[in-house]
Amino acid sequence: MRQRPYDPEELRFVLNEMVREAGVRMLFHAWGCEPVMQAAAAGADAASSNPQRITAVTFQGKQGRFAIRAQVVIDATGDGDLFAAAGCAFDLERVLPWLWFRMGGVENVEQAIATGGWYFHTPGDGRVLLPWGASERVSRKIDATDPEDLTFAEVECRRQVMAEVDRLRAEVPGFRRAHVCDVASQLGITESRRLLGDYVLRREDVDRTFDDTIAVTGHWTKYGARYAIPYRALRASKVANLLVAGRCISVDHRVHHATKEIPPCIATGEAAGTAAALAVRGGSTPAAIDVATLRDRLRRAGAIVDFPD
Ligand SMILES: Cc1cc2nc3c(=O)[nH]c(=O)nc-3n(C[C@H](O)[C@H](O)[C@H](O)COP(=O)(O)OP(=O)(O)OC[C@H]3O[C@@H](n4cnc5c(N)ncnc54)[C@H](O)[C@@H]3O)c2cc1C
Repeated sequence: MRQRPYDPEELRFVLNEMVREAGVRMLFHAWGCEPVMQAAAAGADAASSNPQRITAVTFQGKQGRFAIRAQVVIDATGDGDLFAAAGCAFDLERVLPWLWFRMGGVENVEQAIATGGWYFHTPGDGRVLLPWGASERVSRKIDATDPEDLTFAEVECRRQVMAEVDRLRAEVPGFRRAHVCDVASQLGITESRRLLGDYVLRREDVDRTFDDTIAVTGHWTKYGARYAIPYRALRASKVANLLVAGRCISVDHRVHHATKEIPPCIATGEAAGTAAALAVRGGSTPAAIDVATLRDRLRRAGAIVDFPD
């Protein structure tokens, strides 16, 4: 049994190994671009409210553009890149960005934290995590799907982080000889696009149960609030074989604060993956699978698909 927490790099290795052992074919260094759309052939899809399907998704790599064919596509981009390109309806929220960083060589971590600075414990002796960003830092909210906005935010955040490092070294005794270990490689973005799918989970759905619940979650700022996440919040209404998982599922802005957290993102990812496997094996679409079977599969895999008593 492991006695210490994993560093992020170690965790990446462990996750890679788990995915490899599960038989998943990985492909890094390629950017998902456009879905290749096809009007549904005559039959079940044409008769339903899902008139289109995706036959493949194009990707951009260093050697050029290529496509991967798929029976079911899951958009887990966080920003809903694929459902937007497929023409699905969505909401877009502008946010203030974060850029967390870690410092090492802090003389007395416990004392630094006790003096009231906003520092978190992080693995490694003499190291702290600084959750830098959001309010009153960058001058305006950004659209995290706009490269111009992202460039502005990244340059500005990095400049301000370095100014904060200088201030800590100059003004906070424990930081006098501290150094920067790392600055987050990406801006921290809490919200951008949210799908408007087969069901939009709303604030007033608190404590409500659904026949097609595939995950449940609490709310990180409203203690006691619980949301059941219906399978329909993962389904794109206009595209028969597209599912969505993670931060950009179909919820309103308030509920997003609950469903964007890592545990529900993991849970909706597991549900979308299991639903896709059922659809592919059964030769059907995500909309046509038996939801009771989906819930049963998830439950047997250890997922929590109902509110605990
Ligand atoms: C600063 C900050 C602090 C947070 N703290 C916490 C916390 O303490 N606890 C907690 O539970 N949650 C926390 N959250 C929220 C949580 O981390 C995120 O909401 C969650 O990780 C989102 O998961 P996701 O899988 O939907 O998206 P992401 O984690 O963003 O994953 C999306 C992945 O898809 C890749 N990608 C995107 N577009 C494409 C494309 N077109 N082609 C190929 N790949 C693509 C991205 O590179 C990324 O690897 C925090 C968020 C922020 C910003």
